[in-house]
Amino acid sequence: MQRFKTNKIQIKNTLIGGDSPILIQSMTNTDTSDPKATAEQIMQLADAGSEIVRITVNNEAAAKAVPEIRQILNEKGYKELPIVGDFHFNGHKLLKDYPEMAKDLDKYRINPGNCDYAKATDDNFTEFIKIAIEHDKAVRIGANWGSLDQKLLSKMMDENAKRIKPKSDKEVLVDAIVESAFSSALKAEKLGLNKIILSVKMSDLNDMVNAYEKLAARMLKEAKNYPLHIGLTEAGGGMQGLVASSAALAILLRQGIGDTIRISLTPAPNEARTKEVEACKTLLQSLGIRSFKPKVTSCPGCGRTDSSYFQELASDINEYVKDWQKKYPKAKGLNIAVMGCVVNGPGESKHADIAISLPGNSEEKMAPVYLDGKFYKTLTGENIKESFLEILENYIQE
Ligand code: SF4
Repeated sequence: MQRFKTNKIQIKNTLIGGDSPILIQSMTNTDTSDPKATAEQIMQLADAGSEIVRITVNNEAAAKAVPEIRQILNEKGYKELPIVGDFHFNGHKLLKDYPEMAKDLDKYRINPGNCDYAKATDDNFTEFIKIAIEHDKAVRIGANWGSLDQKLLSKMMDENAKRIKPKSDKEVLVDAIVESAFSSALKAEKLGLNKIILSVKMSDLNDMVNAYEKLAARMLKEAKNYPLHIGLTEAGGGMQGLVASSAALAILLRQGIGDTIRISLTPAPNEARTKEVEACKTLLQSLGIRSFKPKVTSCPGCGRTDSSYFQELASDINEYVKDWQKKYPKAKGLNIAVMGCVVNGPGESKHADIAISLPGNSEEKMAPVYLDGKFYKTLTGENIKESFLEILENYIQE
């Protein structure tokens, strides 16, 4: 798939856009005014694979805590991790009043829909951008349909009503979010900002895809190459959030749209925040864009197989290789197949680097193992799993 051409922007040692890897972002849900808790969660997200972490900077207490958060991260070995400050309504004021915070953040995010909320001018936006230029920071201009610029939306709705064939309200809404992000980027560029990233997040999958497609088309038409951060906002939690976000992002990524991604999940009570990072890694790996750990191919199982043993083995192997990104970085492209019986087992095994086919219900209790597509040996007895993990470990060592 060909990537949409965007500028390359450097934030610390991290490159966003151009031909740099599509990066994974996440956001903390701690109270930013608690520097220890926030730094702790940032480190957890980074350890899980988040390459950029965003924190909300919503009030003076949060702004005051940012230097301490940065200090903790630096002391704990996360000096190069880019931290993004997320601003709404009062960002211009906080950045002006807390210059240490403005300096310590690596990138700012501004919502063009609410920084000049209920005002006739765009003074706050202008001030915000000028401070970013002064501190040489990149800015993501992140429009969000839930807080879309109401003046702009009303104007576009009025104009639409006068058309001979008016568009639907939904279409105007999508046009408005694109206009909000794009015109704000032009304004920021005119003020002198040259590190701009855009996003147009919506919570409906089709609307969100339409918005990003329109934004990409607009950039192409006007020869602008702002890197794009893509995500489905308010995607929900659990299965719904995972499936909707993955589907939306996959459609865009397959078209070459997107330089950084976030999967916004509502965590279940006590669920780890890092799940959204794991989801991003799995998505990028499934699309063949980046590789983070060995791929475990396993069949769904059916009435032919011993369900519990097969499920346990597939799950144990997934668990076993989960952290191989750090342990065996070179093994990230490895393909391991765990098949439930001999129907598709040998065929799938021939395409894998290392594979095992378990015996089906009515088959003889033996499990053939394949290495590099060739039959290696047959495992029998009670310790099939242990023997297979030993073969896997030796294969990696060799
Ligand atoms: S490989 Fe065998 S156990 Fe797995 S789904 Fe196919 S027939 Fe069923």
